[in-house]
Formats: sequence, C-alpha cells, structure tokens
Amino acid sequence: MCDRAGLLIGWDDANKRALVCRANCDSWECIECAKRMSENWGFRAELGTRVLQKKGYIVDFVTITSHEKLKTFSATESVWRSAWSTLYAAIKRKQPALEYMIVPERHKDGRMHVHCIWNAEVSQRWLKDNARKRGLGYQCKVIHLTHERSTAKYVSKYIGKDLGTDASARFRRVRVSNGWADLPQPTTQSDNLRWEYVGTNGALSIVYDECQSKRITLIDQKTGQIFDDIDLGTIVQPA
Ligand SMILES: [Zn+2]
Repeated sequence: MCDRAGLLIGWDDANKRALVCRANCDSWECIECAKRMSENWGFRAELGTRVLQKKGYIVDFVTITSHEKLKTFSATESVWRSAWSTLYAAIKRKQPALEYMIVPERHKDGRMHVHCIWNAEVSQRWLKDNARKRGLGYQCKVIHLTHERSTAKYVSKYIGKDLGTDASARFRRVRVSNGWADLPQPTTQSDNLRWEYVGTNGALSIVYDECQSKRITLIDQKTGQIFDDIDLGTIVQPA
C-alpha cells in the first residue's frame, strides 16, 4: 500500500459503516506505487501481445538505439521524439493495423534506447535502415515473441528502472497505441459505495464528526478492524 497519498472513504449508508482505504499517489518515486504500476504495465504488455497473436499477427520485442553521437538522456530523448513521428508513419504504411507499446530505457551510460512490443512485422534489416535514416542508432534488434509470459517480465523490469535526474518528472514511461488491449477493470462488491477522498487532517475530522453523529463505523479495509486514527499531516506529500 502506498503511504504517500491520503485516504479513500467508501460510505456504505445502508449498513451504517464506511470503509477506509489508502489512496495511491501514482508517483514513480514512490516504491510501492512504482512496483504496482510496473506490474500493471507488465500485465498489459502480456495481454496486448496475446490479443494480437490471436488475431494472427507476428508480435516482436524490438530494441531501437540512439545515435552514437548523442551523449545525454535528454539529447537522445528529444531526437527520438522527432524520429519516432516519421518512423511511425513509415511503419504505418507497411502495417496499417499497427499496435505498439513503447518503453524507453536509460542505459548505464545515461543514453536512452527504447523497447517496443509491436505487430509492425518489419524485418531487422528494414528497421536498421529506417531508424538510421531518421537519426537513430544503427543497432536494432527484433525478437519474435513466442512466450507471452516473458513479455510481462521484460516490460515490468524496464519500466521500473531509474531514469536518472535529467528525465523530467512528467516523462512518460510507457506509450501505447490507442488499440492496445487494456486490463479489465476490477469489479468489487464495493461498487455501490459512495467514495470520497480525504487528504488533510481537517477533512478527516469532518469525517469523524459525521460518523459520530450518524453512528457510522469506520472500518479499515486492509485489516477489517475498526479504523485507528491516523495523522494525515505526516503521510500526505504536497503535490
Ligand atoms: Zn504512492
């Protein structure tokens, strides 16, 4: 559970109780959230791969390197951004049904390379030539994916990696095409609860007051026990 965000209160009016859960901060700097998000992306990589394979596409795990003259993460990242738009157009001409997931990774030397899972069905030779033409590295690797499970493992490993200090906080760790399969939303019994986010001690004391006056019991969702008072001032990080 993430310790940096506030609480979610799920009001169960009919049963005179309210469930208390920890919200997630969804920050890559948060160890708990980074782990959960990389695992989710791993599952989604696997799911998308399987869906495409079922439709009869060849799905590849691809590595595209940056130009050897670029020395920093930000330089390689900015060249990638412009190169990708034209490389994408070229691939799309060969494979109009293109679906992809792209995961940029920081190499030990600080430079960026990217991993893609896609159904582009282009050869390693074609990719080398076409990536180079657009200012990327001359090294590319194309591996056909046969065991879906390894996809998830690859992806969650790369996504969770440290991108260093010259990657902006808003840098996107994963990009997917619109049609890439999405994870099914979890359906829980708590669907009919009325959810409220509580991020400050002031808001929490209003919740306590309401519970007292309406005789509602606050229950910690994690333990099933009556919720213990906590100091939100110590856990909620300023955004
Ligand atoms: Zn978090």
